[in-house]
Amino acid sequence: MSEESKTVLPERRSRVVVVTGANRGIGRSIAQRFVADGDRVATIYRSGDLPDGVFGAIGDVSDTASVDGAFAEIEAELGPVEVLVANAGITRDQLLMRMSDEDFDQVINVNLTGAFRCVRRASKGMIRARYGRIVLISSVVGLYGGAGQTNYSASKAGLVGFARSVTREIGSRGITANVVAPGFINTDMTAALPDAKQAEYKAAIPAGRFAEPAEVAAAVAFVAGDDAGYISGAVIPVDGGLGMGH
Ligand code: NDP
Repeated sequence: MSEESKTVLPERRSRVVVVTGANRGIGRSIAQRFVADGDRVATIYRSGDLPDGVFGAIGDVSDTASVDGAFAEIEAELGPVEVLVANAGITRDQLLMRMSDEDFDQVINVNLTGAFRCVRRASKGMIRARYGRIVLISSVVGLYGGAGQTNYSASKAGLVGFARSVTREIGSRGITANVVAPGFINTDMTAALPDAKQAEYKAAIPAGRFAEPAEVAAAVAFVAGDDAGYISGAVIPVDGGLGMGH
């Protein structure tokens, strides 16, 4: 290749990224991906150990003061947050007739209201900077539904309307808000499923397997990247084809 025909790519800017719940599972893998890509990564987490290079602020997404305090700590250490990945989530599966108010409310409070608390706090700095990438980790179950998961699927479907409203409200400020909807991923959450259930699910997935957390992280990295600046309010499935048609 001649000297003139070589393309010189601009150096990738290191950004301040917050991933909630980076101590394990999908959140851990997402945080590791951003570290590998050269970003300055922090997490709001409750317990456990963190991947190398990730700054940790103890916080609970079900508590507004705790979220706001953790953001203040992260901003003091790394600067304004430019990328937010709302990943922290729980399940409290139960059949509808036996589902308690507490189990329904708790799942909504962590998965949906928790994401709202983080986005509200992160958006202040993003609006000021006229730049931001918001990624909400939903689930194929959000739109596909799941028996025994009325609370969980309602919380995950709620993230779609939330991201789309955020897009309409602050999308003109250089901020995007997207949803990544994983199918079945090899983590503690799926390891807890009985073997027969796991086999049943695998048979229904066109790809014939569960995914690795890094495959979710790759989609998050793309939608949070500068190449995805014109993608907002989208739902990106990472589900081996399970939920197609939504
Ligand atoms: P894990 O159960 O392995 O991890 C969940 C993470 O969320 C942990 O870091 C946990 O922290 C954190 N968390 C839970 N509640 C809170 C809270 N109140 N405040 C702060 N952090 C909290 O789950 P996965 O990695 O499997 O899932 C990550 C996300 O991906 C979730 O939103 C989940 O719904 C979604 N998802 C997962 C799928 C899968 O197949 N695994 C499929 C589709 C979506 P702690 O360790 O302290 O409990």
